[in-house]
Parts: sequence; C-alpha cells; structure tokens
Amino acid sequence: MSDGPVTVLIAGGGFAAVEAALAVRAMAGERARVRLVAPDPEFTFAPAATRSPFAAVTGDRLPLRDLAALAGADLVTGTLAEVRPDLHCMLTATGDELRYDHLVVAVGARAERWLDAPGVLFRGPRDEGALGDLLRTIVSRAMDGERLRVVFAVPPGPGWAVPAYELALLSSLWLRRNGVRESVELTVVTAEDEALGVFGHEAAEAVTAELGEAGVEVRTGAVIRGWEDGALRVVPDGRVPADLVICLPVLRGPRVAGLPHTQLGFVAADHDGRVVGSPGVYVAGDAGPFPVKQAGLACQQADAVAALIAVELGAHVAPPPAPPTLRAVLWTGRGDRFLRTDLAGGRDESAGVGAITAELWWPPGKVAGRFLTPFLEGGPDTARLVDLSAGEGLR
Ligand SMILES: Cc1cc2nc3c(=O)[nH]c(=O)nc-3n(C[C@H](O)[C@H](O)[C@H](O)COP(=O)(O)OP(=O)(O)OC[C@H]3O[C@@H](n4cnc5c(N)ncnc54)[C@H](O)[C@@H]3O)c2cc1C
Repeated sequence: MSDGPVTVLIAGGGFAAVEAALAVRAMAGERARVRLVAPDPEFTFAPAATRSPFAAVTGDRLPLRDLAALAGADLVTGTLAEVRPDLHCMLTATGDELRYDHLVVAVGARAERWLDAPGVLFRGPRDEGALGDLLRTIVSRAMDGERLRVVFAVPPGPGWAVPAYELALLSSLWLRRNGVRESVELTVVTAEDEALGVFGHEAAEAVTAELGEAGVEVRTGAVIRGWEDGALRVVPDGRVPADLVICLPVLRGPRVAGLPHTQLGFVAADHDGRVVGSPGVYVAGDAGPFPVKQAGLACQQADAVAALIAVELGAHVAPPPAPPTLRAVLWTGRGDRFLRTDLAGGRDESAGVGAITAELWWPPGKVAGRFLTPFLEGGPDTARLVDLSAGEGLR
C-alpha cells in the first residue's frame, strides 16, 4: 500500500459502481482517492425502460461525469479486461494498466438471448424501440381482425422478473386504450413458483390478483424449452399458445479474466462481497454471485463493500444490515404497487416477509440506494429519473 490517500478503483458505471463511489466518499472521506472506470459516458436508468414504450418518458440517462463529480471521483474511460490481484492492478481493453489498493468490480451481468420465437427480446433501454414497434404491429393486426396470443416469458435462473409483469400490465392498459384489448390474449409464463414469489406468498397473491383484474393469465412453475408452430414448449405442462413472445433475457456473469467465477460466469465472492482468493478485490451488483439481480440490492452490496474498505482505511463505520432488503415498485398502469421482503440467501424459497401496500420506504423511488437515490430524486437539475408514477403520460 502507498502512503497518502489509497486508490479505490471502481470498474463500472451503473448503480453498483456509482453507489460504491458515493458510499466510499461518504464513509472514508479524504482517506481514499476514488476512480471510476467505465466504457460508457452515461449512467442508464434501466428501470424506466418498461414504461418508455407506452409513454413519452424522458430522462432515463444521466452524464456519468456528473455523478462521479458528486462522489469526488475521477472518471476514466475504459473497459476492465483483466485483473492481476497479485500485482494490485487491472488492465483495460486497450492495454492500460491501472493500479489499485482496493478494486470494486461492478460491471453488471450479460443479458443473453435464450429463446428463438417471433417477438422481442427485452433487455432494457436498448430494446425500447423494438418493443414499441411490436406493440404498434399488434394493434394494427388486431384492428385488421386477427386474434393474437402474446406471451411475456421469464426464464429460470438468476435475474429480475418484475419487468415482465410491468410489461404485461401496461400492455393490457395500452391495448385497451387503443380499442383492441378484446382481440389480444396476454399471458405471463414464468419459471417462478408464484408471480413475484421472491417477495413472499402474500405479495405474490396480491400481484396475481392485480394481473387477474387486468385480464392477464399467469402460468407459474413453467420452464420454457422452445417455440414451434405458434406455441411455447414448456416443462412440465406441454404447450402454451403464443403468436408473439416478449421475453426477458437470461443473465450470465462477466467472466472477468484473472478472477474466479461461478459456473454461470459471475464473480465468485463471499457474502460480504470479497472476491475469493483475491485480496483487496470486491464485487457488487449484478456481476456478483447473488441470484437476485436488482439495482436496489446492487446498491446495498456496494454500501457493504464500501463499509469494508472504509473500516480498512481506519474509518469508524457501522456494518450494513444483513440480510439485505428487497424493495420494488411495480408499475401497474393503475397506481404503483410497493413490494418489500427481507432476503435470506437470495433464493425464491428464502424465508422472508412480503407486503403490498403504498410507500413502504422513503423516498418511494424505483431504486432504493442509500447514497444514490437522493440524487436521482431531484438533487441536481439533471436528475429527472423519478416521478414516473404509472398512469401519467400513458398514451
Ligand atoms: C427493464 C429493466 C427494468 C428493471 N427494473 C428494476 C427496478 O425497478 N428496480 C431495481 O432495483 N432494478 C431493476 N432492474 C435491474 C437493474 O437494472 C439491475 O439490477 C442493475 O442495473 C444492476 O446494476 P449494476 O451496477 O450491477 O449493473 P449495470 O447497471 O448493468 O451497470 C454495469 C455498468 O458496468 C459497465 N461495464 C460493463 N462492462 C464493463 C467493463 N468490462 N469494464 C468497465 N465497465 C463495464 C456498463 O457500461 C455499466 O455502466 C431492471 C432491469 C431491467 C433490464
């Protein structure tokens, strides 16, 4: 370790990375020199993407430079290509060598195609346009007299299923407003045991009721094996008719060279985020092994890692609460639904409490991050990422 401020390098420019930068600054103060290394000059607010195809929503991106400045961090344009834990340095894709005392890997997951079917793979903001085109095609085909069966598909494995339910609910409302709802069957097909069962049985029942009121069918416990002749092949129930499929991606890990990874490529780490066998290296967010891939959790993991680093630097910081709390807002088109549970182990079968009611936390944003959310809630002028309550702006 060097004298003076130590270098905390953070690879990534998403929720986990920005929260880690803000948290290290808040907890370690001037003890740390923070550098963010990211390939993209913008921070993307992926949660807005489910609403964008239905509404004139702007502001799902912020200049990363502004967020880095809030954290007093340097912003380096680059892509993490390899870590050399023995030398305490990382290599970028262009061969630059960046030295660190502590490295936080926050490069997210890879969203991959897994199903060959007519429709759209919805990975977030990059697929908003394709989904908008598909929705308009559905309306025009329905107006021409066709009856269509549209499926929202959730794959098994690590991920975040809320977008599939939001897309189904918002599609239902949008098709109704376009006068073709009666011509289109909407079904969510999911490998989950219950609709959003990760929040507990009580919340799952409330979500199922919400879907029922919107006329959206749900097939749970269904693993999709493929699509042929106008239907999905599912295990164990056989076939689900589907003319068009809007599917979420499977998520795989970033397989960072030089670091150990799980079978699916996620960076292997202990419960605190310390990367196995790699002193001074941590992982936070979707890149790590925790199976629920969610921005609020990414922020909590980033805070936990920042606390470890701050304590090592001599700061007096209380350890973050464990287990983490999963918080989500489900946009229904008829009002926001708040879901919350305490996660033990991060698996669908984990014990926990679920609730569905109004404003279970404050500020009641889509993403609850201790240090990041206040800026997204309207701190600087550029932070127009909230106030996206469903029902407004739908067209
Ligand atoms: C449609 C949709 C809706 C969602 N809704 C919600 C929601 O309502 N609430 C919620 O909490 N979560 C939601 N999520 C999940 C949430 O977006 C992710 O869990 C979250 O983005 C994970 O944050 P992250 O920082 O780990 O990764 P990301 O946000 O994916 O950020 C990764 C960052 O790393 C950068 N990067 C990639 N590779 C490298 C590299 N090699 N070197 C350096 N940098 C790299 C990327 O450019 C990016 O800046 C949603 C996701 C989607 C797709």
